[in-house]
Amino acid sequence: MSNEAIENPKQYTYIIAGGGMAGLSLAYYLSESSLTYERILILDQGNESPKTWSYWSDEAHPFDAFAEYSWGQLEINSFANKHLNLTIAPFVYRKIESGTWTKSIQNKLLQNTKFEFIQAKIEGFSYQGKFAQVLTDKGIFEATEKVFDSVSPYPCDLTNPKELKQHFVGLFIETNFPLFDPNKATLFDFRIAFTNACEFMYVLPTCTRNALFEHTFFSSNLLDESEYLEQIKAYLFAYHGLSDDDYEIKGTEKGIIPMNYVEIPQNLHQKIIKIGTSGGFVKASTGYSFKRTQGLLNTLVSQLESSNKNAQVIQQKRFKILLDRIFIQVLVDQQVKGSTVFEQLFEKNSAQTMLRFLDEQTSVWEDLRLMTSVPTWPFMKAFFKIVFQRPTFYK
Ligand SMILES: Cc1cc2nc3c(=O)[nH]c(=O)nc-3n(C[C@H](O)[C@H](O)[C@H](O)COP(=O)(O)OP(=O)(O)OC[C@H]3O[C@@H](n4cnc5c(N)ncnc54)[C@H](O)[C@@H]3O)c2cc1C
Repeated sequence: MSNEAIENPKQYTYIIAGGGMAGLSLAYYLSESSLTYERILILDQGNESPKTWSYWSDEAHPFDAFAEYSWGQLEINSFANKHLNLTIAPFVYRKIESGTWTKSIQNKLLQNTKFEFIQAKIEGFSYQGKFAQVLTDKGIFEATEKVFDSVSPYPCDLTNPKELKQHFVGLFIETNFPLFDPNKATLFDFRIAFTNACEFMYVLPTCTRNALFEHTFFSSNLLDESEYLEQIKAYLFAYHGLSDDDYEIKGTEKGIIPMNYVEIPQNLHQKIIKIGTSGGFVKASTGYSFKRTQGLLNTLVSQLESSNKNAQVIQQKRFKILLDRIFIQVLVDQQVKGSTVFEQLFEKNSAQTMLRFLDEQTSVWEDLRLMTSVPTWPFMKAFFKIVFQRPTFYK
């Protein structure tokens, strides 16, 4: 790095550190806002592996246009082979392919001369007077207003068996003959859940011959990749009669998403603001974050527009946090099968109520009514652990 770069780092109004889902979404909302800015820099090291982002919603969003596929019906297969068919209107379940979305948003932003992209590895953050700096292998970049950081690790210890994660491996397969019903996505197939860990197959069929099968856990202990793959193959054989010769593997995806709850209090006085997974934007009890991130960033940009510096980046109601933490504790304790909890919730409540509940859109009364659908004792124990003891997953 030249001395000139150190002494005169290039200045921007905002720097977005990490141009993934949260970073590019924020850039999009800034580009649509009434905020005035000189320049916005998006830094990313590149080469992020493609992901499938799914979300449900009952309201239109500009990103819906990028959905590669959508479903109006979801299904759940219980461990006891009971089949729940859920018609979710007015909700729609959508799937976005991260590569296509990323290119489209980048192209849109590149038409605006105020946006600049630099491929660089971010090595750290610092402050210089009243400015925030991003230290990279391509030099130092300075933000006069704010740095938005989506690259710092979220505090989740992958080796700690007390910290819940959503972990999964998925196969995109193409069969030699028509087999799937593309009108229905399988949110949970619990027929594979033989232990108390919350374990299920997640299936997104996009036509009669193509589908994504994801063997997913909400649990603390990670497996060897081969174990997830063996389970998918066993599932394809057991429930679809498919042997290896009947299909071709078109791609894979895998992920580990933190599901432990850690409070990350941030307000808009801060110069460096964590966003995305780094900022705790994942809904801890489900591992979903695409839609939640859109809501949080949209609000964040509105607060910037109104210069409301006291605004919290995450404005989550204390009761919702408590419910999330109880849920997570139940899944960590495994005193009841995780599958039983979700099965009973979906069996005893309408799909629409459940989707609103998982989105934290239900009222306290609806939440209390929903809680009567779950096995009482494990939830009571988890509640007392949270309220009277230091919960096992919470650092
Ligand atoms: C395989 C997979 C599937 C998922 N599916 C869903 C789903 O269906 N629905 C849902 O709601 N959520 C899903 N998630 C969870 C979540 O939505 C995604 O992880 C999402 O990408 C998180 O957004 P983010 O911006 O925090 O992180 P990312 O999208 O990962 O963005 C971080 C960016 O920072 C860059 N970066 C990291 N380190 C550095 C560095 N040192 N220097 C420079 N750049 C760096 C990366 O290249 C990346 O582009 C999934 C996650 C995974 C892993």
